[in-house]
Amino acid sequence: MLTLGWSHTPRGRLLLRRAVARVIRSALRLRSRALPRNAVTSVLVVAPHPDDEAFGCGGTVARLVRDGASAHVVFVTDGSASHPGHPSVTALDIAGRRRAEARVATGILGVDWDRVSFLDAPDGTLARLDGGHARAIEERIAGMLERLAPEVILMPCRRDGSTEHDAAFALVAGALQRAKLMPRIFEFPVWSCWNPLMLLRPMITCRRIWRVDLREVRDVKARAMASYSSQTDPIPPETSPALPLGFASLFLGREEFLFET
Ligand SMILES: [Zn+2]
Repeated sequence: MLTLGWSHTPRGRLLLRRAVARVIRSALRLRSRALPRNAVTSVLVVAPHPDDEAFGCGGTVARLVRDGASAHVVFVTDGSASHPGHPSVTALDIAGRRRAEARVATGILGVDWDRVSFLDAPDGTLARLDGGHARAIEERIAGMLERLAPEVILMPCRRDGSTEHDAAFALVAGALQRAKLMPRIFEFPVWSCWNPLMLLRPMITCRRIWRVDLREVRDVKARAMASYSSQTDPIPPETSPALPLGFASLFLGREEFLFET
């Protein structure tokens, strides 16, 4: 059988992944429309973990804020599970560090600190919450939705290749039912950028795909992403970062795509 020998190395797999991502992005450009300036006046970003907002939609948030939109960000989990078994850093340390990083990142994106909320659900548990805990989180999100009445919710794709992200989407759907609200939902890929074939489904089934040009905010997005050094840099004595090699580079393209069902 013909095999691409180099594709069995980490570097080879990354090259292959980037090539597939380039093809998918080209198709998305054809299928998408530019999000008009001033099309959104208020947005609530739901980030399952501290970093999803910067990587997944940091450019969109920065541009919306520049255009005068009000932006709130809610972090669902504490992000404490990114370094399991680390010999010198505890889950509590990681949660504290990621909260501090989130503070810096959201500030860089232009979101006021009093518009940033943390629900502090334990990282890694969203997909297996018991009914009571799930209800409690839904109620807190529903309370925010009622208070803020955002025109748009920005959150990771409903099938993003992460059980946590998929569960977060279900919690927001439950919260919307409780609040009896129907804002527009713009879904952004995070782990489905890393596994780009997953984007074929929303590319075909979504009613609209919006394209946000990042030219004027690309540096801002890059700086916000760089705030999350706990995820992008190894924490000694480990020699590999929590995020895979080359992950961040997939999010520094010239545009972000948002799926609206
Ligand atoms: Zn995440």
